[in-house]
Amino acid sequence: MKVGIVGAGMVGSSAGYALALMGLASEIVFVDQNEALAVAQAEDIAHAVPFMSSTVVNAGSYRDLDGCSVVIIAAGVSQKPGETRLALLERNAAVFRAVLGQVLPVAPDAILLIASNPVDVMTQITVRISNLPPHRVIGSGTILDTARFRSLVGRHLGISPQSVHAYVLGEHGDSEVLAWSSARAGSVPLSSFAAQVGSPLTDDVRANIDDGVRNAAYKIIRGKGSTYYGIGAGLARIIKAIARDERDVLSVSIVTPEVAGVKEVALSIPRVIGAEGVTADLFPDLDESEYTALNRSASILKERADAVVL
Ligand code: ADP
Repeated sequence: MKVGIVGAGMVGSSAGYALALMGLASEIVFVDQNEALAVAQAEDIAHAVPFMSSTVVNAGSYRDLDGCSVVIIAAGVSQKPGETRLALLERNAAVFRAVLGQVLPVAPDAILLIASNPVDVMTQITVRISNLPPHRVIGSGTILDTARFRSLVGRHLGISPQSVHAYVLGEHGDSEVLAWSSARAGSVPLSSFAAQVGSPLTDDVRANIDDGVRNAAYKIIRGKGSTYYGIGAGLARIIKAIARDERDVLSVSIVTPEVAGVKEVALSIPRVIGAEGVTADLFPDLDESEYTALNRSASILKERADAVVL
């Protein structure tokens, strides 16, 4: 499978590195307006490949995206001092218009994997610009938040995160919702599992885990400026589901007809992902406060996306 990556910055290159090491793609092509950066990232990653896989890694122009099954869009601009969120969004929307105008003619059948932030709104904007069916425009959404949630719960219970079944819903950002009420460990509801192993989920424990998930990115940014390894691996994980038609259930963001009473909004819920992109949406059982929080998250995202003039 050939994978294109537009935007060879920290996120795009981390995704390419994870993909190359996992050997998921036969070929990876980096495209960036900064051509020297794309070439340097491709060469650096290509030098890691012989230790792990046989992926061919190149830099190229948009024409070289021909034949890609998946194109990751990780291009974007960062916030200027004093710039409003809406102004930043409009600048990123302009970047996406330029990028998509070049990607779509050469890779019309590709699944687009959106990584640029704010990822939910950028996913919704991509559907508006491209007119592609929503199941082929997938935002990384809460894939990483869900991984952080599982890992913190697993650590508390003393079990592997893979044995924790729990999802973060809604926005990838401040209004996201940790779906505690539907979470399970093995096949057992989380609170019952926690009681059985003598590690009860007290209000304090839940608050700490909530804080650890919700504020993880802020903490990393304070220490090193930005986050990229986690999301890079998350993007590679989504591509694994597509490349191998695995039909995995992953929490990702696509434009959805209705979520928690809000229509036509891009946000994350668990979804089935395979070679065709998203093939099913799964609405977890929520308690009243989780439903209210998801409705709030969806309303915020819808309002932000509607405010962007294309
Ligand atoms: P992140 O941490 O999100 O990866 P970076 O600033 O490191 O952020 O990377 C963003 C990348 O997107 C940069 O390499 C930049 O050159 C690229 N980029 C920005 N605008 C465009 C564009 N219009 N076309 C292609 N690449 C772009």
